[in-house]
Amino acid sequence: MPPWKTSLWHDLAGIFLPRRCAGCDQGLMRYEQGICGECVDDLPRMYAHDDPDNPVEQVFRGRVRLHAASAFLRFNKGGMVQHMLHNLKYRGDLAAGEELGRLMAEEARRSRRFADVDVLLAVPLHRKKLRQRGYNQAQVLVDGMAEVWPLRRVEAGLLRVEHTSTQTKRGRMARWGNVKAAFQLADTEALRDAHVLLVDDVVTTGATLESCARALSGVPGIRISVLACACA
Ligand SMILES: [Zn+2]
Repeated sequence: MPPWKTSLWHDLAGIFLPRRCAGCDQGLMRYEQGICGECVDDLPRMYAHDDPDNPVEQVFRGRVRLHAASAFLRFNKGGMVQHMLHNLKYRGDLAAGEELGRLMAEEARRSRRFADVDVLLAVPLHRKKLRQRGYNQAQVLVDGMAEVWPLRRVEAGLLRVEHTSTQTKRGRMARWGNVKAAFQLADTEALRDAHVLLVDDVVTTGATLESCARALSGVPGIRISVLACACA
């Protein structure tokens, strides 16, 4: 197809299938992916990856041994980040998730503490939930990250083995009990001596990430780091 035709097709598709920004709901320009340029500029970045005392580090202190923990954005209730992550998690806005992944990887890979990461690993969803939703929002972030941060792909078989759908209604202690031992690792050899970056959408109490890190901690020589898209 000649270029003017592809672009015409693109414009027509845009009329029938308007692409909207996951942050402000305005229509996207053709070159924008999931999030408009203005919202990208307005993202409340934490710039805390190399701070060993950042808020995410504090969440995990004394609970599980991590090499580094951090978040890309600050999560404000009712704010833009919550809106974006809601669109990713519940409305299938995968384009926004991939764009957030690219943005967070571009920043993280330049930080001192994440620079030698070998493997990106999304916190898995339970199989039943994955079937219902059709995708894992953390994996969508990792897919975006991998586009700008090419690392080795590992099929380590990290699985979520308990269904924890009621966890958002519970408090921190109950939650911890609820997700305790909720992950299993099939192939420990695949992650031997690797620096693994565990990725999730939001870190709140840290219970899920903690449980996930524990499941990985028995791998010989492993170093585990945590990166969330947002910190509540
Ligand atoms: Zn926007």
